[in-house]
Amino acid sequence: GTLHVAVVGAGIAGLSCAGFLAQAGLSPVVFDKSRGPGGRMSTRRGEGWQCDHGAQYFTARDPDFRAEVERWLQAGVAARWAPRLRVLGGDLGHDADSGLARFVGTPRMTAPARLLAERLELQAGTTIHQLERGAEGWRLLSAERGWVDGFYDAVVLAQPAPQAASLLRQSSLHNAAASGLVTLAEGVVMRGSWALMVRFADPVALPFDAAFVNAGPLRWIARDSSKPGRDGVESWLLHANAQWSEAHIEDDADDVAAAMLQAFHDLGGPLPQAWTAHRWRYADSEPAGDMVCAWDGDTGVGLCGDWLNGGKVEGAWLSGRALAQRIVDGLRVVG
Ligand code: FAD
Repeated sequence: GTLHVAVVGAGIAGLSCAGFLAQAGLSPVVFDKSRGPGGRMSTRRGEGWQCDHGAQYFTARDPDFRAEVERWLQAGVAARWAPRLRVLGGDLGHDADSGLARFVGTPRMTAPARLLAERLELQAGTTIHQLERGAEGWRLLSAERGWVDGFYDAVVLAQPAPQAASLLRQSSLHNAAASGLVTLAEGVVMRGSWALMVRFADPVALPFDAAFVNAGPLRWIARDSSKPGRDGVESWLLHANAQWSEAHIEDDADDVAAAMLQAFHDLGGPLPQAWTAHRWRYADSEPAGDMVCAWDGDTGVGLCGDWLNGGKVEGAWLSGRALAQRIVDGLRVVG
């Protein structure tokens, strides 16, 4: 019969992997602890406002990923974003690279993931915290529903490295290759990031839509309302840099917001009408080499995600696809 694959994580990597597995004739089921797909390609919505508080935009350098983005553009779930872009606080670190094509999901960052999830079986609100291997295959234990239905021939972990590592440690893996996966995931240091979503009654009178910031607590500020297809009140996103975020990751949201708003004010920003803070515990990772993905054919466990391939949306999508290819090739060898 067809091979059943459980994919843990409905971020862009897991969805890409599951989509290619389905295309090759396998039966993937995707699980995510959140209410919907997208992972760190995420948008917060409130009354009269919306704001992307994870990935800000994505680029497409690989020809296959460009073709995928073209498909998203055609489907209306993504568009090019050409912000008036600045580099503030010194010229170290970043340049604005105005020739680079930047894309965003439309009408919000989660839209491409929703498109990919449409053709897949997704079980949302399901936190997988243990894997168990029996004679009939893998079973998955969830926090919300106990053991989920079905046995799986393979399991794909498409989570940030620390979450993949802790799931692997909770699972019955008894060979050296599998413990190699644990070591790999444990070896990756992921860093936190504070995000502050701020709303204004009127358009903010700054002469740019986004800026890389090279001084103080902030790293990036962007007028979310300048992205195509957005509605609601004037909305900006402030990201703190990794070093500052890590130093303040356990702080009170009120204190963090006060410091970030002061830094925004120092750059010429007005005081907002309202704000919402979000703490990302695993925003990005130190580069983890160029493995792209990892697969242990003996146990049927694989890893994919941005942390294995450059830390961005494009790398995550390519990582998921590469793992799907490894799984399908592995079956050919066995079959
Ligand atoms: P994720 O999107 O993290 O997906 C993992 C999924 O696994 C999540 O949905 C999570 O809920 C789920 N999950 C985890 N554990 C479990 C469990 N036990 N059971 C069930 N589900 C589980 N990239 C860019 O290209 N450009 C940018 O400008 C950019 N800016 C960023 C800014 C911030 C603040 C952050 C946080 C990220 C940014 N990124 C950016 C990175 C980009 O968001 C990621 O590279 C990409 O979205 C990662 O996709 P992924 O599928 O690997 O992981």
